[in-house]
Amino acid sequence: MEIMVLGCGAAAGVPMVSRGWGSCNPSNFKNRRLRSSVYILDKEKDVGILIDSGPDLREQLLSSKIRKIDGVLYTHLHADHTDGVNELREINRLTNESIPIYGDKVTIESIYNRFGYAFKEIDLKKEPLYHVILKANIIKEYKFFSVKGVEIKPFLQNHGFMNTLGFRIGDFGYSTDVVSLDSKAKEVLKDIKVWIVGCLSLKMHPTHACLEQVIEWSKEIKAEKIYLTHMSIGMDYDYLCNILPNNICPAYDGLKIEI
Ligand SMILES: [Zn+2]
Repeated sequence: MEIMVLGCGAAAGVPMVSRGWGSCNPSNFKNRRLRSSVYILDKEKDVGILIDSGPDLREQLLSSKIRKIDGVLYTHLHADHTDGVNELREINRLTNESIPIYGDKVTIESIYNRFGYAFKEIDLKKEPLYHVILKANIIKEYKFFSVKGVEIKPFLQNHGFMNTLGFRIGDFGYSTDVVSLDSKAKEVLKDIKVWIVGCLSLKMHPTHACLEQVIEWSKEIKAEKIYLTHMSIGMDYDYLCNILPNNICPAYDGLKIEI
């Protein structure tokens, strides 16, 4: 299995249009962060899975040369995780098929309300592909589902004002936009090898985990390697590498992880 980090930035990315680079060194390319998303390629089964389709999706598909998506998993409905829905059209164009998407009820409803046209079938024999075509699947926390034979277990996360879904796929776990995890969620993450986890800032935040929180979790989850994602302009790459224990490090856009 190969995991590609397509983006590891917070809602506004790094740099921010309004506040620039903050404490991030602009000359280190690892500090330039698109909105958070990952692509998982199960090489044995030849299945490609995207987690979240944020507003930077076009750029991410181009730079990572992604031409196949067998399913899109959504963590939650926030714009920085869903607004790139329309960019999936290019994948429809390549495969000539609809793309299955998976999310909880509120997320799927929100995508349906904002991108209703994406769920109208097109008769490709009669008309050209003129919009993105998705197939909605509602999933429930702690209920296994599979994308072309790749098993996925979603678990519930607290994001302050709402719940989000984390995902476990084999020995890989993905948790973004989370401020607290209960024991049931931690149980799902037990014995994973690689965990990508949202870590917005050095200081406490009401809706996102801070660095201290992730370090606390690392002692319980005991993943072999933990990568930080959804990082704000307060999270300089080299600074983090210097202060963090060996098993935790910041992700960067374009990072590839083999499990
Ligand atoms: Zn969010």
